[in-house]
Parts: sequence; C-alpha cells; structure tokens
Amino acid sequence: MRTPSNRRRRLGGWGFEDENFEPSPQLIQWLNTHVGPPGPALGDTNLPIPGTRPRPLPSLPGEVCSEDRDRLFHARGQGLIDIIRVRSGTVPALPDAVVRPSNADEVIGIFAVCRDAGIQIVPWGGGTSVTGGVNTPSSDQPVISVDLERMSGLIDFDPISGLAVFGPGTTGPQVESTLAEHGFTLGHYPQSWELATVGGWAATRSSGQESLGYGRIEDMVAGMEVVAPAGRWRLPALPGSAAGPDLRHLVMGSEGRLGIITEATLRTRQKPEQTVVHAYLAPDLETGLDGIKALMWSGLPLSMLRLSDPPETEVAMAIGLGTSRFASLAQAYLRLRGIRDQACLILVGAAGSKIEVAEALEGARSILRSHRAVSLGRGPGRHWQRDRFRHPYLREALMDRGWATDTLETAVPWSRAAHCRTEVRRALETALGIEGERTAVLCHVSHPYIDGTSLYFTFFFRNASDPEATIERWARLKRAASEALVRSSATISHHHGVGIWHAPWLKYEAGTLGLDVLGDAARRLDPDGLLNPHVLLDPTDRLME
Ligand SMILES: Cc1cc2nc3c(=O)[nH]c(=O)nc-3n(C[C@H](O)[C@H](O)[C@H](O)COP(=O)(O)OP(=O)(O)OC[C@H]3O[C@@H](n4cnc5c(N)ncnc54)[C@H](O)[C@@H]3O)c2cc1C
Repeated sequence: MRTPSNRRRRLGGWGFEDENFEPSPQLIQWLNTHVGPPGPALGDTNLPIPGTRPRPLPSLPGEVCSEDRDRLFHARGQGLIDIIRVRSGTVPALPDAVVRPSNADEVIGIFAVCRDAGIQIVPWGGGTSVTGGVNTPSSDQPVISVDLERMSGLIDFDPISGLAVFGPGTTGPQVESTLAEHGFTLGHYPQSWELATVGGWAATRSSGQESLGYGRIEDMVAGMEVVAPAGRWRLPALPGSAAGPDLRHLVMGSEGRLGIITEATLRTRQKPEQTVVHAYLAPDLETGLDGIKALMWSGLPLSMLRLSDPPETEVAMAIGLGTSRFASLAQAYLRLRGIRDQACLILVGAAGSKIEVAEALEGARSILRSHRAVSLGRGPGRHWQRDRFRHPYLREALMDRGWATDTLETAVPWSRAAHCRTEVRRALETALGIEGERTAVLCHVSHPYIDGTSLYFTFFFRNASDPEATIERWARLKRAASEALVRSSATISHHHGVGIWHAPWLKYEAGTLGLDVLGDAARRLDPDGLLNPHVLLDPTDRLME
C-alpha cells in the first residue's frame, strides 16, 4: 500500500486518505430532485476485515506479505461493488499473500513456484480496475496477488526517437514527472491517472482524456516485454511493421490472461508549451453532436473534445462550475435563448505552442459558431483541468450520504450514437422501476473519432436497506445497460476493459471463433491456467460476487 509520494491510499475508497471532494449543496439538491431522498448511508467507520486466514504457501521470490490489511486492499479493485464489499466486510475471498517482485526474473521464479504448487495469480498494477479485473476469485486453490509496484520507473530513454521504456508499475504522475525532466510527455491522462500504471493501461487498452491529441494507449505502446509461464516474449519497438499480424495487439487488452507485462516502450512527445481548454454551450444535443463531428472531420489539431448531454451539463454546474463566473454567464445565456433544459456543455482543448493553440482554438470557434454554440471562454476549462482527477472522490462522499453512483462506457459509429444513448438511458432509468426506485443518468462524449464516438454514462440511484440489496440494484442496472449496448451494436467497453463483469457480453463482439482463438493463445502461453483464469474469457455472470 506504499505510494511513491508516501501518501497512504484509502482502503475501501478512491485515492488517498488525505484527499476528499465534497458534494456541493446544489448537487445534493439535484439528487434529491432526480433520484429521491437519500437511502441509508454506507460509512466506513468500522471497516471490518473478513477473518479468512491465509492458506500456507511455499517460499516465493520477491517481497511476500500476508498481513490482513494488505490482503484486503488487494482483494478488490475500484468498482462500486468493490467499495461496498470492502466497507461492509462482505469480501468473499482474499489473496493468500501479496507478492512484490522487483524484476522479470523474480516474476519467472513466481510462475515456477505457482505452477508446482497449483497457486493462482492475479497481476496487480494500480488496482483501479472497474470491471472486477483484480478481484480475488473464490477458489479451492491458493491465490496470490502479484503487485508490480517495485517494478516501476524509467528503465531507458532514447530522446532522439522519443522512446521511453518504463517498468509496469509506474503510475501516471511518475511517468509524467520523469519525462518532464527530459522535456517530454506521454499525454496519457485517464481519470484514474493518479493511481493507474503503465502495465495496467496496456493490459486494459486504456484511453486518456486527451486521447484525441495523444492517442489511446495502444497508439503509444511501441514495444513490450511479456513474461508468461511459457517463457519470456519480447515485442520489439518499431515505428511500423508489415511482418505479419501485430502481436502487440494480442497482448494489449489481454488483462493478465496471457502473461505479465514487465516492460513497455512508450512513444513520447516534446512537452507542449501550453494546453488550453475553451468552453461553449450548444443549444441542444443534436446540434452539439453535429458540431463535435464537424470538428473531427475538419482535421483541426485538437487535444481534447468533450460534449455533455443536458443532464450532465446541469450537474457539471452543480458540482462546482455553478459557483464560478461561468454559472452566471451560462444562466444568462440559457435565459436569453429560453433553452434551459437542453443546453450542452462543450470543452475543446488544444496543446502546443501559443501560436498553434491559438490557431487550433480559433478554427474550433468558427466551426462551433456555425453550429450555434456560444463561447463561455476559458473559465470552465480551467476549472475542469484543476478538478478532473478529484471528481472520483465524490463517489464515496455520496455513498456516505445515501446515494450510489457508477459509470459505464461504450463506443458506436456516429450514425448510431444518439440512438445508443437513448437505449442505454432508457434501460438504466427503468431497471429499478419494479422497486419504485428512480435512476438518474448523465452522458458525455469524450473520445471522438472520425467514424464515431465513445459515450460515457454516469448513473445515480439510492442505497438500498443493506449493502447486499444495494449490490442487487447495481447488478440489475449493469445487466440492463449491457443488454442495451448489445442491442445497439455498441462495444461492451471503449476503455474500461472486460474483466469479469463484462465477460458474459464479450461473445457478441469477439464472436465464438474469436473467443476460441484467444482461449488457444491463453492455453499456449499459460498452459496451467495460473493467470487470472476468471478474467476476460470466463462468461459466468459474477455481478453479485
Ligand atoms: C475513478 C476511475 C476513473 C477511471 N478512468 C479511466 C479513464 O479515464 N480511462 C481508462 O482507460 N480507464 C479508466 N479507469 C479504469 C482503470 O483505471 C483502467 O482500466 C486502468 O488502465 C487500470 O490500470 P491499473 O494499473 O490500475 O490496472 P489494474 O486495475 O491493477 O489491473 C487491470 C487488469 O490488468 C491486469 N494487469 C495489471 N497490470 C498488469 C501487467 N503489468 N501485466 C499484465 N496484466 C496486468 C490485472 O490483473 C487486471 O486484470 C478508471 C477507473 C477509476 C476507478
């Protein structure tokens, strides 16, 4: 549980113990109106540690810890139900030990011992998975969590090519601060940036908030070293290659099933002089979506684009933007246009020299104006840049007040984007109707492409009478939304990955033959099924675990 900055990570919640983000009175009021009065609070004052004793293990290479708190910390990731289970003392299984190797040879040694003793392995990067990907399976066999935090930092840097080799346990802040010393940046900023790691990003095909400018993680990973039970596999860093299928893409997204990524060579760039984010209000969602598509088709060199639907625009104001100068401007605009309920917040970012940024943002301004969007200047963008990694702290603060919240995300071609949003919203809004409960749903576009876009949903519902019943509500919502995604021919995940919770729906995208191919690869690289056997390829519905 050490962190490079020596700040202590929170058990049963997001982030660090010394950081909080309290909901504004406006947000509380919004929840009361749209979801209903709060349910029972789910506090963490007693934080019970389940009394499962670690099973005896043979001697393993690396640092081995079987202390209860460390085992509980590594038993679950950061999904909503992970937090509920940890806080309510209902985690079904803990790893028997947390093992921290310091190099690839120790990883190989761990595999050898685990193969002989029949021990299962869950690789652990930053533990920020929101798909159950690091959760300890209930198993008759012993299970260890292999935490890669000791394999972190810059291993090699080639400034002529901008190629940086990092250890898998390197976190976002470590990557950026190290590269900054050389005047470079990676530009990968998932909202979990503070805690997630290079190995975890590659293993889950992560996408950062500035993916428009810098690309997804798979655009950044030039090469890798993977250690599998079957051997050590180097995928060389090359700018391009036609030497058969690109095997990096077999490893990226493999979520620990094919081996442990022990090194990643990343494509970095010179650090831009500045990154500026401008804000606009579009008159309605349809016009806003058209505007975002027009920006994508214009080829302007933008680093980020984000469009919030009307409910999310309302909440964006309620969680902080509403107390800024932006609020009065926005409200004046809404009053003038008489479009109080339909306005959509747009954020447009550009990175580079002052001249490059000014030109890109000027180009964006003229396109958005032609889509009847009104400029709100730099204030909201500055606010968003300042708080973007603090928003996840809101979840526990709301849970303590009686409301549960979670997110899900997908991607679809432009032609189906509006329909998909409607389908998912409807599924979430009606899933708890049988109990007479309401769900409030927000949506935004944050990773647009030439041919389509991601859609990111945030939903709120009331805590039920007890933790188990709250998890049941969540499972019902999750199933309903996943089925809506399949009906909309949308992906089950644009960037969170598959883990265990999305696995039942993977077949609709990968196909039966595709799953067989992946299964064959897993059997070749990990013949004894030591690594994450419950993740990615096991379609069992485990939403209640
Ligand atoms: C608040 C919050 C915000 C988030 N925002 C984003 C976002 O903006 N964009 C985004 O893409 N994701 C986001 N996520 C999801 C999550 O952060 C990503 O999936 C991230 O890439 C996981 O990285 P990690 O290092 O924490 O991996 P972990 O959670 O530790 O592991 C993820 C999976 O990969 C496996 N694994 C980990 N390291 C390795 C390795 N070295 N080799 C092989 N397998 C490995 C694990 O076994 C597990 O199955 C968010 C999550 C939270 C909680």
